[in-house]
Amino acid sequence: MRRISILGATGSIGQSTIDLIARAPEAYEVVTLTGGANAARLARDAIRLRAQIAVVADEAALPALRDALAGTGIEAAAGRAALIEAAERPADWVMSAIVGAAGLEPGLRALQGGAALALANKESMVCAGPLMLRTAQSAGGRLLPVDSEHSAVFQALLGEDIAAVERIVITASGGAFRDWPLEDLHKATPEQAATHPNWDMGQRITIDSASMFNKALELIETKEFFQIDPGKIETVVHPESMIHALVGFNDGALMAHVGPADMRHAIGFALHYPDRKTLPVERLDLVKLGQLTFRPACETRWPALRLAREVMQTGGLSGAVFNAAKETALDGFIEKRINFTRMAGVVEEVLTSLSAHTGLIDAEVTLDNVHHADHLARQKAREIMTQ
Ligand code: NAD
Ligand code: MG
Repeated sequence: MRRISILGATGSIGQSTIDLIARAPEAYEVVTLTGGANAARLARDAIRLRAQIAVVADEAALPALRDALAGTGIEAAAGRAALIEAAERPADWVMSAIVGAAGLEPGLRALQGGAALALANKESMVCAGPLMLRTAQSAGGRLLPVDSEHSAVFQALLGEDIAAVERIVITASGGAFRDWPLEDLHKATPEQAATHPNWDMGQRITIDSASMFNKALELIETKEFFQIDPGKIETVVHPESMIHALVGFNDGALMAHVGPADMRHAIGFALHYPDRKTLPVERLDLVKLGQLTFRPACETRWPALRLAREVMQTGGLSGAVFNAAKETALDGFIEKRINFTRMAGVVEEVLTSLSAHTGLIDAEVTLDNVHHADHLARQKAREIMTQ
């Protein structure tokens, strides 16, 4: 039996992970399940999977969680410290699927314990790539990408020499507004931005897809995960979302990973790695599909892509600043304090302002330094948004 924990179990990735685990309950011993505030859903799944402990991040949800788990023998806990303690419990495989920088420390703690960490939380690599890689190496754990693009690249690289890679092409659906006239973008509402043409995901990543901040994070994640020169990383808009990424080699070969938009493929690949096992995902009918299309990823429409290039060049803690500014600007957009196109402006101003802050960006990538940079970036972003 493999010991499994799922951080962010109540979200979109968490639920897809549970779908796979629940199909073979005899193979897994579930240790920790965590959620935000949805005690009912968390308790239902903890009971279904016979977890050891269920933790809600929101302390106000503890009474409901306790009630729902009464008499089951499953521990109930709440709050940040309890969540981190539960993430540290020994496990063989841990899904990191909390959204945002809040997912960094719980995943890192699991990795420190030697677990294989399936990384949906792309923010971990963006904010603290060197720390994640260092920790995986020193603890004997392993990082497995779950973001569909990075899983695709990882699979295309199996048995290959990274030195022979000429380029990595990350595809982007273009999100909700890819066909909107540029001059209308400032009118886009959070409700409109939260509707994705191809993928069914959490609210925040869906809005980030419309602004391409999601793709921006993924470009940085690619650089950090595969330790590849940023000049070799490209983006192309591919509205059908069938090709998730392509890897080009020095002999001209271009390997594409093709499949329907279903995260259970990437999650299942990480779950069974290094084996391949049958997964309950749709098989592609190429004739029905007919054709695939591609367009350039325009940096005027999506300035987040230009900012990502700057962050990749700068390195250090600029990823942590970028992500924290983005999360704060996204809150501002969701709460209707700033408009859609203003988000990139806020992030750019935070990056400019904090890069003048001596020693901040160049400091070593440790958890404390990431938290410090994150804190300053959020403060600055809030200040800019109230001007
Ligand atoms: P989601 O919003 O559906 O779920 C997020 C989970 O994190 C929930 O369990 C929520 O309760 C929990 N959570 C939120 N804030 C928290 C906090 N402060 N502390 C503790 N827990 C908290 O998000 P999602 O779409 O499942 O995405 C999860 C992660 O996976 C993100 O980093 C996202 O970028 C990445 N990802 C998602 C998809 C997808 O298809 N949904 C694809 C690729 C990568
Ligand atoms: Mg992705």
